[in-house]
Amino acid sequence: MSIDFDTNLAALRSAIDVSNRIVIIPHVNPDGDAIGSALALSHALKKIGKSVALIGADEVPKNLRFLPGWEDFQSARDLFPNDEAVDGAAATVGTFDLAIIADLSAPTRLAHARHLLPLAKQIAVIDHHELGDEVAEGILLIDPSYSATALLLFEVWDRLGLELSAAIAQCLLTGIATDTGGFKFQNTDAKSLHAAAELVKHGADITEIHEQVWDRKPLSAIRLLAVALANIQVAADGSVAYSRIRNSDYATANATDEDTEGIVNEIGKLDSAIVFALFREHSPGRVRVSVRSRGEIDVAQVCRAFGGGGHKNAAGCTFETGVDSAIDILLPALEGAVASTSR
Ligand code: 5GP
Ligand code: MN
Repeated sequence: MSIDFDTNLAALRSAIDVSNRIVIIPHVNPDGDAIGSALALSHALKKIGKSVALIGADEVPKNLRFLPGWEDFQSARDLFPNDEAVDGAAATVGTFDLAIIADLSAPTRLAHARHLLPLAKQIAVIDHHELGDEVAEGILLIDPSYSATALLLFEVWDRLGLELSAAIAQCLLTGIATDTGGFKFQNTDAKSLHAAAELVKHGADITEIHEQVWDRKPLSAIRLLAVALANIQVAADGSVAYSRIRNSDYATANATDEDTEGIVNEIGKLDSAIVFALFREHSPGRVRVSVRSRGEIDVAQVCRAFGGGGHKNAAGCTFETGVDSAIDILLPALEGAVASTSR
């Protein structure tokens, strides 16, 4: 599919101009980029007189609850409790002139919030992921060359007719900072750093972002980290490192899946590892896998073969099995990716 960026940008600007009620929807299990991008847009659109709703399938993660306006998110799970369209949903949330989905393009990754789409006259996607098989229909402002959706937004902000404030700058910088791993992943390019400098000039606070997002954790998260580090395994002569968190470990640590955030990167600190993964059975019989790689190895491709996706160096997928079976299924593919890339 070829998507002309400038044409879609102009279309988005017109759609904003003619819209009054706008809903902004981040993806399921939202991260700092999804939440930061959605909040930045919400602040800016309100400033130009739009009525804005923020609705996502999942709660705002605790470590993002410092971002201005996070309390405004409504839960799509409350609106669509049975995960199906509800007669009268329009009576509850109203209808929308425009739905903007942020940091994803596949409606299935909206989970319960996908039922909002039929309530909107127009749909726009703002995203930096590679296109999968399934893409929402509408205005598609998508460019995988950006390290973050928030960076893409920053680059087009003026052309959308939007203004920056300190609050908006903090939301956008959080998006860029989280998707670049605090400006250290390989996607940390000159554009990302340039945007960061501009956003700091507008009042964003990178120290607060580091403290809130990464550097302070509840005891439950430290306990799960300990489990993951204690269970680390290697394969392919140490090029693949992985670990598992069993469903029972969550109860022992009094933890939720949110407490696993960042653990995969700790596994990747093993010096020999070029592919690393965390398998976690967050609910019985359901295993989420976070996969990361260094260099040329494309783990999104590996995950897509199992119904997941993501970026070249950061991807994920889900298995409806126990944790040991999930490892048995995915590990050969991870070893294969290492073998075929080093050949
Ligand atoms: P995480 O491991 O942090 O949950 O996800 C890493 C990256 O992979 C994120 O950019 C996320 O969007 C993507 N990702 C994770 N799981 C899935 C999935 O099941 N499907 C798709 N398309 N992308 C995923
Ligand atoms: Mn992103």
